[in-house]
Amino acid sequence: MAQTIDITLTTNKKEKPPENKLGFGIYYTDHMFILDYSVEKGWYDPRIVPYQPITLDPAAKVFHYGQTIFEGLKAYRTKDGRIQLFRPQKNFERLNRSNARLSIPDVDGELALQALQELVRVDQDWIPSAPGTSLYLRPFVIATQAALGVAPSTEYKFMIIMSPVGAYYAEGMNPVKIYVESDHVRAVKGGVGEAKTAGNYAAGLNAQQAASEKGYSQILWLDGVQRKYIEEVGSMNVFFKIDGTVYTPSLNGSILAGITRDSIIHMLKSWDIPVVERPITIEELYEAGANGTLEEAFGTGTAAVISPIGEMNWQDKPLVIRDGSTGELTAKLYDTLTGIQNGDIEDPYGWTVEVKQ
Ligand SMILES: *Cc1c(COP(=O)(O)O)cnc(C)c1O
Repeated sequence: MAQTIDITLTTNKKEKPPENKLGFGIYYTDHMFILDYSVEKGWYDPRIVPYQPITLDPAAKVFHYGQTIFEGLKAYRTKDGRIQLFRPQKNFERLNRSNARLSIPDVDGELALQALQELVRVDQDWIPSAPGTSLYLRPFVIATQAALGVAPSTEYKFMIIMSPVGAYYAEGMNPVKIYVESDHVRAVKGGVGEAKTAGNYAAGLNAQQAASEKGYSQILWLDGVQRKYIEEVGSMNVFFKIDGTVYTPSLNGSILAGITRDSIIHMLKSWDIPVVERPITIEELYEAGANGTLEEAFGTGTAAVISPIGEMNWQDKPLVIRDGSTGELTAKLYDTLTGIQNGDIEDPYGWTVEVKQ
C-alpha cells in the first residue's frame, strides 16, 4: 500500500548547469528524500525536503565503524518526453542484501521505490535530455546513533540524492587501459565484497591512484587469496569474449552482483550467444591474448554502462586487445542496452519502469 510521503518544496530553486558540462556527481537537484529509523519506531517519517546539509553527532557510528551502504541507478528522459527507470526493484533488493551484511535493518522496497519515483517526479526538470545524459540516483543508508561501542547502530537514515550526469562517451567510445593489481585486493569471500558499502571503495583508492599515475584509468582486481582469478574492474563487472564465447567471473562471494552484468548475461542468452559464468584466471586470459582468441573485453556498471578494455598490464606484461579498438559485440551491447534505458529501443525484457509525471 502506498504510504504518505510528506513533501516540502524549496522556495529557492537552483540554476541548472549546462547539459554539456555536467560531468559525474558534481551538481545536485533541488530536493532529497529522508527516512529515519529508530529501534522503537522502525522506519518512520518519509519526507522530501529541499536539498541541504544534514547535521550529525560527531560520534555517529557511520564515521567510526563504516556502517553504511549505497546504491546507484539512473532516470532517463525519453525522446517523447516520458521518464523511465531501469530495473529499480533490483537496486532495492541489492540494497537490502547489503543492509543485511552490514547489520542495518531492512528498508521496505516498495516504500523506497515509491520515494524514488516521487523524488524524480518532483525534480523532473533536472533530468537532462541531451544524448547520453541522465539523472543519477543515489540511495544510501548511514548509521546515525551517537555511541562509540562497537555494535550495530540503533538509529539510521535512509536518503536519496540525485545528480544530473553527462554523456560518458561524449567523444565516442574510448577503450580504457587497465592495470592488473597484484598487491592490494578489493575483497575476500566472507568479507563485504558482495555489499555496496563504503569501505570497499576507500580500500581501493590507493591502488587506483598508483595505477592512474602509471597511465591506467582502472584497476583489474584479482581474488584475495591466490591473486590468480579475475574479479572486477574498478567498480565494474568484467566480461571477455574468447573464441566466440563470452565469459564473466561467477559470483563467488567477493564480487558485487551488478545489475548491468545481469542484464548483459540476459541479453546475450536471448541473442543465442554462448555466455559462461565461471572462475577465470589471469593466465588463461594472457594465453587467449597470445594465441589470438581473446576477441573482446569490457567492463559493465551503471555509470559507464559498458566500458571497452583496450589494454591490460599484469606484472609489467602488456596485453593489447584488438589493437585497442572497441569490439563489435561490445558496441552492439552498449547500443542496445542504452537504447532500452533511454527509450530509443522498445524494451523486450520488461526492465523499464515509467515514472508518472
Ligand atoms: C556498483 C558496482 C558494480 C556495478 O553494478 P551495477 O548494478 O551494474 O551498476 C560493480 N562492481 C562494484 C564494485 C560496484 O560497486
